[in-house]
Amino acid sequence: MVMKPRFIVDAMLSSLARWLRFLGYDTLYCETQSDNEILERVGDLILLTRDKELILRAKNRGFHVLNPGSGSKKAMLEKLEQELDIQFVANPDRSRCPQCNSGLQRKSRNQVLDQVPLGSLRNHETFWQCDNSDCLQVYWQGRHWTRIQNTLRQLRRQSAQE
Ligand SMILES: [Zn+2]
Repeated sequence: MVMKPRFIVDAMLSSLARWLRFLGYDTLYCETQSDNEILERVGDLILLTRDKELILRAKNRGFHVLNPGSGSKKAMLEKLEQELDIQFVANPDRSRCPQCNSGLQRKSRNQVLDQVPLGSLRNHETFWQCDNSDCLQVYWQGRHWTRIQNTLRQLRRQSAQE
């Protein structure tokens, strides 16, 4: 079996980093690190950056580096799918916490009563909670989920037409 890619993402691509985590990919997000510090951490991760100088330096060291481009989220994900021969799937049971990259655990409504706004408690039965005790963020299949699913659906439709 091919190993699932793991990513390291620079500060310019914070929203892509959150999406990758949500889509279940182990993603190290470097918000404040210098280029040197990022290069020290790459190892066998795939570096995602648009920074031309950083791309060059990473290539010179033999690292796997990809520029996802500056298009829409759909265009970036499409590029990653093509370059890495993967297909993104939205499955919250396999998601990582977009905030901190830890795993999520499925929770019932009763388990998250104190952490979720009333409207969302009413509208959803299943929730997911980050298992990192410093984070414990709770998620549900709200608007963000719909946006991600729509984006993936557009990607699949597009590739079916090609
Ligand atoms: Zn978390």
